[in-house]
Amino acid sequence: MSRKPTYEELEQRVRELEKEPVGFKGVGEGLKKVASATTVDIDRKRAEEALKQSEEKYRTILESIEDGYFETDIAGNLTFLNDSLCRIFGYRKDELMGMNIRQFTDQANARKLYQITNNVYKTGKPARAFDYEIIRKEDGRRHVEASISLIKDSQDQTIGFRGIIRDVTEKRHMEAELIHTKNFLQNILDSSIDGIIATDLQGRVISTTLNIKDLTGYDQLELIGKKVNTFYGKGVEDEKKIMSELMAKGELRNHEMKLKKKDGGLINVNISASLLKNEKGEIIGTLGIYRDIIEKKKLEAQVLQSHKMEAIGTLAGGIAHDFNNLLMGIQGYTSLVLMDVSSTHPHYERLKGIEQQVKSGAELTRQLLGFARGGKYEVKPTNINDLIEKSSTMFARARKEIKIYRGYEKDLWTVEADQGQIEQVLLNLYVNAWQAMPGSGELYLETENVTLDANYVEPYHVEPGKYVKISVKDTGLGMDKETQQRVFDPFFTTKEMGRGTGLGLASVYGIIKNHGGIINVSSEKGKGTTFTIYLPASKKEITEERELTHEVSRGKGTVLLIDDEDMIIDVGSQILKKMGYELLLARGGKEAIQLYKENKDKIDIVILDMIMPDMGGGETYDRMKEINPDIKVLLSSGYSIDGQATQILKRGCNGFIQKPFDIKELSNKIREILDRE
Ligand code: ADP
Ligand code: MG
Repeated sequence: MSRKPTYEELEQRVRELEKEPVGFKGVGEGLKKVASATTVDIDRKRAEEALKQSEEKYRTILESIEDGYFETDIAGNLTFLNDSLCRIFGYRKDELMGMNIRQFTDQANARKLYQITNNVYKTGKPARAFDYEIIRKEDGRRHVEASISLIKDSQDQTIGFRGIIRDVTEKRHMEAELIHTKNFLQNILDSSIDGIIATDLQGRVISTTLNIKDLTGYDQLELIGKKVNTFYGKGVEDEKKIMSELMAKGELRNHEMKLKKKDGGLINVNISASLLKNEKGEIIGTLGIYRDIIEKKKLEAQVLQSHKMEAIGTLAGGIAHDFNNLLMGIQGYTSLVLMDVSSTHPHYERLKGIEQQVKSGAELTRQLLGFARGGKYEVKPTNINDLIEKSSTMFARARKEIKIYRGYEKDLWTVEADQGQIEQVLLNLYVNAWQAMPGSGELYLETENVTLDANYVEPYHVEPGKYVKISVKDTGLGMDKETQQRVFDPFFTTKEMGRGTGLGLASVYGIIKNHGGIINVSSEKGKGTTFTIYLPASKKEITEERELTHEVSRGKGTVLLIDDEDMIIDVGSQILKKMGYELLLARGGKEAIQLYKENKDKIDIVILDMIMPDMGGGETYDRMKEINPDIKVLLSSGYSIDGQATQILKRGCNGFIQKPFDIKELSNKIREILDRE
């Protein structure tokens, strides 16, 4: 017998020996038995010792583990459990013993537990790491993770279940938190207007936000794995720059560069980047945040444009003022000569020709003044629909080849406008449209009530609120981007000499600005052009106007004529004398006030120049009004700065006349003021 018997074999032998009658088979046999019984005795002791040790070992393990261990009978009643299980369930050991494992939970979880154990029973396969909720004796619910398997006896009969339970409440909370945080972050990322791209150390894209497509034209998936420098405007050069900055400072802030889109187009972006690190702090890649700055660039361009316009406007206004005074002289003298010349005289037609030229000159300065700041004089509550109707009907009569469509907002808000100027704006736009549609074309004129918010109006430096929108759309040649950027520049024209002056849109721009409005152009080459104008709405009511006569009205009474220019004084006084008025003359504000004090009862009306060196028209007006609150004053100017004229009119001044004026205009204005009452 060379092999050592197993524990079972030994036991078997012991049982056999116990049955055998001792001393029955002779001494030799007996001795043999004694010898072997002794061996059996020793082996059994050893086996018991081993068993004890093994049990001890398992018990210590069970008691020292964090997880709860339990055994149940086939019905699920607890037959054995460790201390950790008591801790997890919050019950004492004696309370738990004999209780059903499904008792420490709610109905839904009990059912789940039953189904799982039933399945284990039927299939014999253990259920591993499933979750359910227990209810502790005193302090509520906990999440546990359990594994359950069968206990079988030596005959392979199922006699119960054994299981391990672990409290995972904190872990699940953390997981939920993590998922929540992750979703939250993903939401932030996905709702970010900026495109975000993460790369590895080789500069390959490893992750991006959804909106990256809007920015680059590439799909999120398309980008993954691509070198990030493939869509840098300057490729590797940009990448080097970004990386060297990142490596030196650890971050990159607000670096402006261009991105190359999938279709090859370039866009301006602002990039901020940082290094991606793992939990050990090692650099594993980069994170770049890309912001589209087209809007910003546009805003900058708009601000620049409006500064430029303001500067040129001031300049243009100055020129217009001096030029109008010159024209006034020419017009005045011509009128005077014409009064003495009959229509049959050989010079009559020539003089009329001079008047005609003065009119054209005045038209030019009118454009310049419209463009210049502050050239807004006669502001009245106005219905823009009426103005469009009137001007476009007139225009349509002259340009029959163009079809005009009108779409008016029915209850269009009122705007406070200088009707003459807005008419000029509209006519300029019609003429441009007509010139852009050689042969034939369509012109769409529309109005609309709109409300502009602070965001929209910010770059234009106007107030948010209610506006009347006017759009003038043609189906003409259209223009490229460069032309669009320059259309409002004074003297910018693409038309041949004699046809275009380049002042049309410049004056349009100035007039709209002076009305506190906005003008925009949108166009595509070959597809037509749309000009959009916004004028601030007003609450004022529209009042009826009376028509002026077109005859020179003769008058009587005394006029005080105030002007710092000798030529105007000379021509003005001659004209007024011809019209039948007595005259007093003053070459400045101070002199005028002195004269007015002395003659206030005699003077019927004052004609007051606005811009004078010693004392301006505004102050002169106020002083004279102090002397006589009922004073009648006609303001006259070749120009006004910052709507000065409007200010003086608001303070009660009775009328305004724009230089150069002819005899008819002047006589009508004077009559109108004197006859009012
Ligand atoms: P002008 O008409 O004397 O050239 P404007 O200031 O009115 O000056 O217009 C400037 C330029 O803007 C024009 O020369 C033309 O190139 C362009 N433009 C204006 N309106 C239109 C339009 N409706 N369609 C196409 N181009 C236009
Ligand atoms: Mg034009």
